[in-house]
Amino acid sequence: MSYRTELLTRWQEQNRLCIWCGRETWNHTTMSRDEARDRLDITKGTSNATRNLRRRKATAEHIVPKSCGGSLGLRNICCACAECNHTRGNIVDAMTPVPHVAAMLPANVRRVLDGNV
Ligand SMILES: [Zn+2]
Repeated sequence: MSYRTELLTRWQEQNRLCIWCGRETWNHTTMSRDEARDRLDITKGTSNATRNLRRRKATAEHIVPKSCGGSLGLRNICCACAECNHTRGNIVDAMTPVPHVAAMLPANVRRVLDGNV
């Protein structure tokens, strides 16, 4: 499965919400930047619009980072906004999943999130 397909799968399963902050994210493979700005209520042309849109972009988050031996498989991937993904970096316990978003994920992914791999 490709990175793009994996991310899209999780993004849809998580109802577009970031696993760490619970905010809605956007996916450039399914919507234009204008659509994303509308959905996320980001006003075009303001000084922070481009940065805010970039921060809310959906990214594939490796729950156990690759640098820590995490699998490249789909069960080790959830959807996070770019801001959270970059903030978390490679620290496994840096952030706590939002419970109602985690509940949307398949059981094998929730086990990885809970540390019971
Ligand atoms: Zn986030």
